[in-house]
Amino acid sequence: MGVASLARGLVSIMAVVSLAGCQLRSRPEESRTPAPATEAASQTATVSSFTMGTYVTVQATATTAEKAQEAADAAIRALSELSDEVDRFLPASPVSRINQAAGNGQWVTVSPRLFTLLQKAKQAAELTDGAFDPTVGPLVDLWGFVEVSDTQAGSGSTAAGSEDETGTAQVGPAPIVGRKPPSQEAIERVLPLVNYHDLELDAATHSARLRRRGQVLDLGGIAKGYGAELAARMLQESGVTQGLVDLGGNIFALGHKPDGTPWRAGIKDPRNAGALQAVAVLPVADTALATSGDYERYFIYEGVRYSHLLDPHTGYPARSVMSATVITPDGAMGDALSTAAFVVGPEKGPALLSKAGAEGIWIRPDFSVIATPGIRPEVELRGRAHWAQ
Ligand code: ADP
Ligand code: MG
Repeated sequence: MGVASLARGLVSIMAVVSLAGCQLRSRPEESRTPAPATEAASQTATVSSFTMGTYVTVQATATTAEKAQEAADAAIRALSELSDEVDRFLPASPVSRINQAAGNGQWVTVSPRLFTLLQKAKQAAELTDGAFDPTVGPLVDLWGFVEVSDTQAGSGSTAAGSEDETGTAQVGPAPIVGRKPPSQEAIERVLPLVNYHDLELDAATHSARLRRRGQVLDLGGIAKGYGAELAARMLQESGVTQGLVDLGGNIFALGHKPDGTPWRAGIKDPRNAGALQAVAVLPVADTALATSGDYERYFIYEGVRYSHLLDPHTGYPARSVMSATVITPDGAMGDALSTAAFVVGPEKGPALLSKAGAEGIWIRPDFSVIATPGIRPEVELRGRAHWAQ
């Protein structure tokens, strides 16, 4: 039994549906008349599952428990569908079809939803000058890091909830065993295949193709952020006004918490990611927040940590920080930018994020923290974390 199927089993046992009554607006003290259930009263449903290679928790508040529950269930179903579209390890998925057709000239028609994701991936690549590159697949394969498939479960790098340090991670990620870095020669051989310019998109027909043989689209650095927003928008369409989606550390906060205060997101301790104690906490409302960390998938060889966050310019894992977090209203962009922010690091990162109108937080190996000026006043550091001088 693989890690993922084991995890699935666990999650189905643990799947919780909590129904908590709460008031949206506080009512005057003297008024004792109960509000009509359809007006002021609200009910919250929380549903946890496993999809897109990771844990997902959807919390929804609606006028009735049934509506909240139905909305959360529908959002999770939509994520499973998206997962089947973007999984490059499912031979029949649209992304696999694009990869199989690489270099043969054929266009592959995809759903409007996947086409939008591909457009965002290309935009993110352009904006970051290839620090985020959705054609990174051959390099990911060479290093032996897999994503979205159901062979490994990422636990997520950020957690949000009604309590500051309450996370959704059940276990801390463990290193991949028995791997060593590929040879320089092998890296140089695959590196020319990593080039987002070769991802061609045709908006008129919703089609995509890769220009050269051997190229591989890998949406692992953007799909979860897109999914988190997609799920939140589905909640919104079902009349949910307050909701929270946490898809493996890609958070999308819809509105505020049911009590009217912002949600609080915690950034995990990169060297104790299984713990519930966050090293930084910040308020989030109506926004996406994504963290890329070097502890999600990695191996250690001769004392050096090699993580799944690869610098497409060098072909090696980026190493200047332990994690990078991005806060921005667009879920897909936030996810892609968190990967790019990790790759470029805290020196060049702030300028890059400012071009995108996004905020960022970086944690260096000595636990010193750098944040962009727009978010820094709102970030509370905990434990080993301290502001960089
Ligand atoms: P996680 O999936 O752990 O939350 P990310 O969102 O940053 O972290 O995505 C990492 C995944 O993105 C990798 O597993 C790989 O599939 C892909 N990836 C790695 N480096 C890059 C890169 N420079 N650009 C685009 N995708 C990348
Ligand atoms: Mg990312």
